[in-house]
Amino acid sequence: MPYPIVLINHDANTTIISMAKRHVYVDYNATTPLREEVKAAIINDFDIFGNASSLHSRGRKARARVEDARISVAKLLGTEAGNIIFTSGGSESNNAVFETMRLLAKEGPKNEIITTKIEHPCVLTSGEYSAKAGIKVHFISVDETGKLNMDAYRAALSDKTIFVSVMMANNEVGTIQDIKEITRLAKEAGAYVHSDAVQAVGKIPVDIKDLGLDYLTMSAHKIYGPKGVGALFIKTGAPFYPMLHGGHQEEGRRAGTYNNLGILGLGIAASLALHDLDDYQRHTSFLRDRLREGLLEKIPNIRINGHPKEVLPNTLSVSFPGAEGEAILLSMDIAGIEASTGSACASGNLEPSHVLMAIGLGPELAHGSIRFSLGRETNIEDVDYIIETMPPIIEKLRAMSTLH
Ligand SMILES: *Cc1c(COP(=O)(O)O)cnc(C)c1O
Repeated sequence: MPYPIVLINHDANTTIISMAKRHVYVDYNATTPLREEVKAAIINDFDIFGNASSLHSRGRKARARVEDARISVAKLLGTEAGNIIFTSGGSESNNAVFETMRLLAKEGPKNEIITTKIEHPCVLTSGEYSAKAGIKVHFISVDETGKLNMDAYRAALSDKTIFVSVMMANNEVGTIQDIKEITRLAKEAGAYVHSDAVQAVGKIPVDIKDLGLDYLTMSAHKIYGPKGVGALFIKTGAPFYPMLHGGHQEEGRRAGTYNNLGILGLGIAASLALHDLDDYQRHTSFLRDRLREGLLEKIPNIRINGHPKEVLPNTLSVSFPGAEGEAILLSMDIAGIEASTGSACASGNLEPSHVLMAIGLGPELAHGSIRFSLGRETNIEDVDYIIETMPPIIEKLRAMSTLH
């Protein structure tokens, strides 16, 4: 449990939660449930145990599924199957690109990396690790809407820049970056460009060819696929030094026996995501707008974070001045609503969110922020339940904090 529920055993915990009138999961940016179709396909294939690298028919049967999944992922991203490798998820894909760039930078003469202050921890930490390895790493700031500070970006770019990594859409506030322009500028400097598109894929159109990227990261469990599997796009001709050495799976780019079932699930999730993109956007943005307007109307003095327009359709980050995030979450959880805070409390770390700090919130506001991230299963009744449940929670916590 990331927050301090003072219950000892799991059963007691379940009892408390089941006392809630309604159960509403609005933490889809953290992870999504498996889609029924994905689950059915995985269950159907459970006995296909062949090693996808074996040449006999059992192996080929498993391999055929892996290759079908590769085509589905490539279609979703606007590229070719040969440019996709499968990984264990978003974190690995991001790490693998940074690993390649660290090795290239050591070879010189280009030896500077540019990324941003609002990346997912797996990119931020890869950047910090690269800095420890002696590479100059620029962490570019963002404005109060979460958009990259383009002047600072231009100033950091030079003929020394080997690599630029900017996330396509932010997981906490939902702001979408101008990746096409960021890529264009990086290319002028002769740099390779990567985007962590884990939050963008399946939520907004992603067309790698149009964007001009060299590398792109996606993950299955953020698009209703299984956990522990993802993909990395590598442009033809772009350098890649494998992180996992061993067999020649993935043409030597990623060793290890294929995670058949995970990859199958990713493939199905990818083709469904492409098919449903318009519906998804309509559905989630309608509910997100309703939630935003409802909260603004019912709760005085709140702040909506992120870009007003260029934002993921499902994401709503709200600051509640005078109330504390973990306390809000706990009260919400008792009321059956599962969301997340602006602080990285999952790791037991009560530092305010680096993203909310980067958009200028200050520690107190950053601590009093909640991210609602909606999904396919969210409905109007869920949203109205949140709108009805939040005002007394915030009112009570604000009253308590003024007492201190
Ligand atoms: C979830 C997430 C990741 C990590 O992906 P995993 O598959 O969980 O390793 C990376 N970047 C962003 C933006 C994410 O939201």
